[in-house]
Amino acid sequence: LFAGECDFFFAATTIEGLPPMGAPEIAFAGRSNVGKSSLLNALTNRKTLARTSHTPGRTQQLNFFALGGPPGQETLRLVDMPGYGYAAVSKQKIDSWTKLMHGYLRGRASLIRVFVLIDGRHGLKDTDAGMLKLLDTSAMSYQIVLTKRDEVKKADIEPRIEATLKALKPHPAAYPDVIFTSSETGEGIPELRAAVAQLLAE
Ligand code: GDP
Repeated sequence: LFAGECDFFFAATTIEGLPPMGAPEIAFAGRSNVGKSSLLNALTNRKTLARTSHTPGRTQQLNFFALGGPPGQETLRLVDMPGYGYAAVSKQKIDSWTKLMHGYLRGRASLIRVFVLIDGRHGLKDTDAGMLKLLDTSAMSYQIVLTKRDEVKKADIEPRIEATLKALKPHPAAYPDVIFTSSETGEGIPELRAAVAQLLAE
């Protein structure tokens, strides 16, 4: 699945502008700077699939990528969700982000899982609470992926995973497993690929 091409094929800025449903979709969400672009690039073996270092002024959009076949014949779609938690963002921007996310998460039968990226150096933050709540209320199945494992001391890895699992207990839609990744060293990337492949096989 991850050996072949992965092509960008669609960007949606509104619910009305979403591409028609087709192959199963797996989406990636996270705070800005969590390492989402880097992880998508590592996952798909691309250097420039998802551009890193977005600026807050950039248009907020859902970016669709085709995997396992050219667009139109893909077996899976990866969806890059717009980052959240920018320090200085207008209420209008937050509202349009929320509207887009709400609409997508609630009305997308082909969306099978959302991977929520959390900075492994810090764990779950207040800024992530809104995203988890949105997923819980949408009854959308999601799984936490911790990032930047290479920046975390070895002795802190297991405790960080345990603390994250504990924090997820009150969240009904959270999958009770956490993958700790590094886009720098590639740690956790095979596990993440396996989790994606498993979802497709279900
Ligand atoms: P995004 O805003 O979530 O798309 O985050 P980016 O992928 O642009 O990454 C934000 C910053 O974190 C960049 O400076 C990356 O180089 C850095 N970064 C991302 N992933 C890792 C990682 O696994 N390890 C380390 N050490 N840095 C990372």
